[in-house]
Amino acid sequence: MNKIEHLGIAVKDLAASNEIFTDLLGTPPYKEEVVESEGVITSFFKIGESKIELLQATHDQSPIHNFIEKRGEGMHHIAFAVEDIHAEIKRLMDKGYRMIHEKPKQGADGKIIAFMHPKSSNGVLVELCQDADK
Ligand code: ZN
Repeated sequence: MNKIEHLGIAVKDLAASNEIFTDLLGTPPYKEEVVESEGVITSFFKIGESKIELLQATHDQSPIHNFIEKRGEGMHHIAFAVEDIHAEIKRLMDKGYRMIHEKPKQGADGKIIAFMHPKSSNGVLVELCQDADK
C-alpha cells in the first residue's frame, strides 16, 4: 500500500453535496463520472495529495442505496493506492482475508479497483486501487 488515494462518502444528492464540499474544500469537483457496474454517479475533489469521492446511487439496487438505507449518509470507504493490485489481492487472500472482488474491475477516475469485505477489516470498507494504465 502506498498512500490513501481517496475517501469515499455516500450522499443522497450529489448536486447538493458538490456545493457543500466545494465550500468546505474551496475547490470545485474536477470530474463527475457514472460507474454503471456499481450503480453510482461520483464526483471527485482534489485536496493536496488526496482526493474525496462523493457517491450517489443511480438506482435502488446500488450498494450505495443499500448503505444509506442502513447507515445513512457519510463515510463509505477508504481507498489505498497500490502498485500491483493482483499481487495485493493475492497477498490478502493468502492471509485469509475476504475480498468482495477477487478480481480487479474498472473503477472511476482511471483506476482498476477491488473492494475488501468490511467484515475482514473492522467494519471499514477498504478499496484497493491501481492506475489502469500501468
Ligand atoms: Zn472509491
